[in-house]
Amino acid sequence: MSNDKKPKKMEGTSGNVLELPKQCPVCSGKVKRAGFCDEHFLWFKAGLVNRAGEKPKDFDKKYQSYVRKPAA
Ligand SMILES: [Zn+2]
Repeated sequence: MSNDKKPKKMEGTSGNVLELPKQCPVCSGKVKRAGFCDEHFLWFKAGLVNRAGEKPKDFDKKYQSYVRKPAA
C-alpha cells in the first residue's frame, strides 16, 4: 500500500497544530517552501541540510559538488 496523502491543514484549535518554522533554519531568512527559504530548500533537496537545517559531516564535499553540478 502506498497511499501518499498530503497532510491536511488543520483549522480551529491553535496550539495543537504542528507549524512549520517561520524562519529558514539555516540562514533565518524568509520561509518560502517546506520550511526553508528558496536557496536552502534547494540545499535540502540536494541533501546538504536536513529538515532541522543541520549540515551533514561531509557537507563541504556535498556542497562542492552541489555548486559544480546543480541538480538537473
Ligand atoms: Zn535559508
